[in-house]
Amino acid sequence: EISIRGLHKSFGDNEVLRGIDLDVAAGEVVCVIGPSGSGKSTLLRCVNLLEEPTKGQVFVGGTEVTDLDVDIDAVRRRIGMVFQQFNLFPHVTAVENLTLPQRRVLRRGKEEAARVARENLVRVGLADKADAYPAQLSGGQQQRVAIARALAMGPEVMLFDEPTSALDPELVGDVLAVMRMLAAEGMTMMVVTHEMSFAREVADRVVFMDEGRIVEEGPADRVVGDPQHERTRHFLTRIL
Ligand code: ATP
Ligand code: MG
Repeated sequence: EISIRGLHKSFGDNEVLRGIDLDVAAGEVVCVIGPSGSGKSTLLRCVNLLEEPTKGQVFVGGTEVTDLDVDIDAVRRRIGMVFQQFNLFPHVTAVENLTLPQRRVLRRGKEEAARVARENLVRVGLADKADAYPAQLSGGQQQRVAIARALAMGPEVMLFDEPTSALDPELVGDVLAVMRMLAAEGMTMMVVTHEMSFAREVADRVVFMDEGRIVEEGPADRVVGDPQHERTRHFLTRIL
């Protein structure tokens, strides 16, 4: 479903991605781990073209998104992204956060957008918060609204960039539960996270990145439980 080939990204003379090759099959969940500055966010941002790769190719669902002739907006519609900061529209309610992008980007009518919004608020367990404003919601609830907003667009794949890092510890579980549900439903997901228990339980594969390269990848039990590379071991001893 996602195919990354020889991906390089530089900012000036800072080479942040130094040749990434990675496939994420349909329905697969891949967790990306690695030290700060290793290029994890840049990798996700290159997949949905928030950053333009310097070299290499990215395919999503068979379409080369790095093709210069591609319709960037059409590509982005197929890829949901959730960030560490929830990025909700602060001046509208939870349900309006879900209906506005559907109406503007997908040109859905009022009733269809409202129906899809309600369905997705139900999915993330927030049907009763539809009319709340973001400031009236906890961080965990805001993040679940952000996930529901992405889902309401009907994405083929979901990218998560440290979705629980800004949350108080007691709110992390609710967000991970929603991500676990999505994984069980067969959503294709790339998840940058430091939640090793989530990675071990949910990820089909864990990818360890350092200095813009994939150092090690494989089943979570192996990469997290029995890492083969010194750099992976060193990273894991610091975060576990
Ligand atoms: P963290 O765990 O701290 O989120 P990361 O692995 O996500 O780190 P990136 O955010 O991808 O790392 O950043 C990798 C490198 O790219 C860093 O050195 C960063 O300073 C640089 N970088 C990222 N975005 C930009 C940008 N827009 N302009 C210039 N440099 C950037
Ligand atoms: Mg990052």
